Amino acid sequence: MSSYKIALLPGDGIGPETMAATELVLEQIAMEFSDLNFETISYRAGAENYRDTGVTLPDAVLEGCLAADAVLLSAIGLPDVRQPDGTEVQPTMMVGLRRAMGLHSAVRPVKLYPGAPCVLQNTGPGIDFVIIRENLEGLFASFGGGGMVGDDVATDTLIVTRKGTSKVAEYAFQLARRRSGRPADGKQIVTCVDKANVFRSMAFFRKIVNDASQSFPDIEHNAVYVDAMSLYMVQNPWDFDVLVMENQFGDILSDLGAGLVGGLGLGPSAEMGDDHALFQPSHGTAPQIAGKNVANPLATILSASMMLDWLGERHNDDSCLAAAAAIETAVAEVLAAQMVRTPDLGGASSTTEVAEAVAAAITKTPVTDTSH
Ligand code: ATP
Repeated sequence: MSSYKIALLPGDGIGPETMAATELVLEQIAMEFSDLNFETISYRAGAENYRDTGVTLPDAVLEGCLAADAVLLSAIGLPDVRQPDGTEVQPTMMVGLRRAMGLHSAVRPVKLYPGAPCVLQNTGPGIDFVIIRENLEGLFASFGGGGMVGDDVATDTLIVTRKGTSKVAEYAFQLARRRSGRPADGKQIVTCVDKANVFRSMAFFRKIVNDASQSFPDIEHNAVYVDAMSLYMVQNPWDFDVLVMENQFGDILSDLGAGLVGGLGLGPSAEMGDDHALFQPSHGTAPQIAGKNVANPLATILSASMMLDWLGERHNDDSCLAAAAAIETAVAEVLAAQMVRTPDLGGASSTTEVAEAVAAAITKTPVTDTSH
């Protein structure tokens, strides 16, 4: 029997609803996989907590996250809850968590499931690539800093270090090894996305990705400028497998990726470090639909699948890997059936009904392909 301690951060807006839906799915997993046990501890943090207590991320919550085997977060922040300088609490909390937990690589799968709405008329041989975003440096290294010269000039500095880029590059190549390659021809390939023709920091980023590739001779690699990549993601997304890029570029392109494959309600994400990992949907708190039981829970449920996949890999736990695959297969089945879906996907089902449909579709099958 494997037991995992999971810290849950339900957060704000639709966060508690998509988290409750995901807990329902995890309970079903624990019933189906009797050798798995999840010890979940739910913590209060985020905008509502800031409004009530003046603290976004209490020390005890951070300690709980650091002590857990993994952290599952749904969504943080509310537009009407502001800090004294006028900013929202979400960036402060997320950058704080990333730095404290050393989460160097953010992972966003861009995968088109059969039955999911797609804005592209031509989906070719399919869309299934992963964006790896450097998560601690780049332009976001300037968060909390930056400079002003009087009232006329403002600056933020983009930081690229050998250590940080090596970590994210190595992670990208390792992930490519576990995947079945790009849809176009099954080639396992890492693409560095940068602006190496203009910026010294970006040329350095590309060089370090190139250096990292030497340890992975079995994986191909190439490089594409970020502006061209935003075109290719729309025109020929099936030519990509694993993309690795600077923090701000990843922030932007991963929303474009979510838009390609059904919207934010279907986009899971993971933030990986050497010792910790945090999993969350790519959407925010969508306050205008909060409390109505209509939010799409699939992004959070798929994030929980990524969490089990990470735990399974880390602890050499085949049952956990199979559980991760079972969740993804169940989500794919529910989407393909096109019966139970929330309004953002054109349906009329509730958050709870979608979670129940996914839970009902979970079956214990041997693990074959755990790639996301
Ligand atoms: P943040 O800045 O906190 O990331 P955002 O500006 O990206 O937030 P979101 O809260 O993610 O905005 O949502 C944008 C819109 O997308 C929402 O207003 C909502 O209509 C829709 N949306 C996002 N997530 C979901 C979901 N899980 N289910 C249904 N609709 C969603």
